[in-house]
Formats: sequence, C-alpha cells, structure tokens
Amino acid sequence: MEIKKISNIFLFITIISAFFLIYLWYKDYKFNNSALDEKIIKKIEAKTRELKALAYKNYNITYNIPIIISDKMKNNLFGMAIFNKKDVAIYLNKNRFKENLEYMIEDTLPHEYAHAIMFLLGDFSNENAGHTLKWENICKNLQGKRCDRFVTHDDIIIEKTNPF
Ligand SMILES: [Zn+2]
Repeated sequence: MEIKKISNIFLFITIISAFFLIYLWYKDYKFNNSALDEKIIKKIEAKTRELKALAYKNYNITYNIPIIISDKMKNNLFGMAIFNKKDVAIYLNKNRFKENLEYMIEDTLPHEYAHAIMFLLGDFSNENAGHTLKWENICKNLQGKRCDRFVTHDDIIIEKTNPF
C-alpha cells in the first residue's frame, strides 16, 4: 500500500515535469518562430526616438538610422553597426532579447548607435575595433549605460556586402 502511494506520487511528479518541459519547449519554439513581441518593439522604437533626438541635439544629425532585428547573427554578438556604401544601419540580435531585454535596449542599442554616428561623422577608425575615445564620448552623450572602450568583440562592419 505504502509503495503504491509513493509510486503514485512519483508518477504525478513525472507527469507534471513532462508538462513543464513541453511548456518550456513551446515557449522557446514560439519565440524562435515569431517576430518580437509588440511590447518589445515599442520599447525599441521609444529608445530609438530618444537616441535620434540626442544625435540631433549633440551632433546635428537627422539621419534615420534603421534598426534591423535579425535572427541570423552570431550568438555572441548582441548588436552590430554597419556602414555599407552610403548606408548606415544597426542590427540587433533577436535571440538575445529573450533573456536580456533591458540590456539590449539600454546598453546595446546606444553602444551601436554611437558606432553609427561615428560613421555618419565620417570617422571609420578601426582602432580598438572602433571603440575609440571619440566613440566613448558619443556613447556617453547618448546616455549609454555602459560605454566600455575595452570590449573585445568586433561589432562594426565597414564596406562589406554581406555582414554575416
Ligand atoms: Zn562596439
């Protein structure tokens, strides 16, 4: 009788766990196979408007820098700034929004925006992978949360047709 009881409890836990795993899998699947949540997109748009206003205030730049959400970026990259012929664009790694929403918006976006402004100012310095003192100052003027010059990743691409 006791053993039956214990095995019933065990079975119950197993079934609950299985449902939970399916739920997690479904959540992941849904995230990977759909566009970003409307709420997240609204946050990105709001932050972009802020950055655009700061770019105008500090550098008289009116250029509309497109923000492209991509799920094809390398996993270790949060964002990228690209200068290609005459176009400047910012890419944000869609997969990184899953666990790092605030970081993506308050940290990555101003970081990449500062790279994009460097391009628009005609500065294509590759020194320290683009993280120069000038870049740092721009990042700070954009109220970036962490304008760290001593980063190791290469997140700028200049004059290439296929960024990935
Ligand atoms: Zn960077």
